[in-house]
Amino acid sequence: MQLVDTHCHIHSAQLELTGDETARAVWLRANQLEPDRLVRRALDQGVTRLICVGTSADDSRLAVDFVQHRSHCWASIGLHPHEAKRGQAELEQLATLAGQPKIVAIGECGLDYFYSHSPKIDQERALRFQIELAQEYNLPLIFHIRNAFDDFWPIFDSYQGLRGVVHSFTDTHHNLDKLLERGLFVGINGIMTFTKHEWQLENTRTVPLNRLLLETDAPFLTPVPFRGRINEPAHVALVLDFLARLRNEPAKIIATSTTQNARQLFFT
Ligand SMILES: [Zn+2]
Repeated sequence: MQLVDTHCHIHSAQLELTGDETARAVWLRANQLEPDRLVRRALDQGVTRLICVGTSADDSRLAVDFVQHRSHCWASIGLHPHEAKRGQAELEQLATLAGQPKIVAIGECGLDYFYSHSPKIDQERALRFQIELAQEYNLPLIFHIRNAFDDFWPIFDSYQGLRGVVHSFTDTHHNLDKLLERGLFVGINGIMTFTKHEWQLENTRTVPLNRLLLETDAPFLTPVPFRGRINEPAHVALVLDFLARLRNEPAKIIATSTTQNARQLFFT
């Protein structure tokens, strides 16, 4: 069985001074500073491909450097909506990375009105910039959209031919329909193992197999039964097992489909 963690932040589990401080603080607190160990543990669980997702220009550079000499790792470069207030110079810096080898996506990018760490106008500007970067390099997008789909759809629909995934999808059935109509993929992670919302589980049951992707968002969103500890790519296998029970489908079928979906979106 070969699984793909389509969204993790293990490149931040190093002591470098640049990169995603939020993720690094979590790795540090747990004294997890050996990303190669995390990769090995993932391989033990059949997770043979990992996408290391950048959240700022520095963090994206770290991700790109990290994956160059690691055969199981690939990078996505992006400016997280929380960081959108960093502005145009940050985006220009991000764009200079785009031609590097082993970059398989742009993101995570999007809109987050739940935390609103950046003004909406900056979030939209950063999102549009990254969509256009993805078009220029013919790459798929990794979207982070929280409490913001009403503003996201008009932006998305103002472009043609975009490909991508809505990572960590937990939104309504209405927005699930909209993303499926647009050919987007649905990224499912450990949240589903501990959500209290039956409607989120019901949505996850109805996602067509050919649109599902597995992810961890490690070090965040640790699945049951490891709540209270930090997350790692090996736990993609737990998300898989949970989905198999939830959807009443053989794990093998979900594994095959999600890996094929990841291949189609990121690795062709
Ligand atoms: Zn993430």
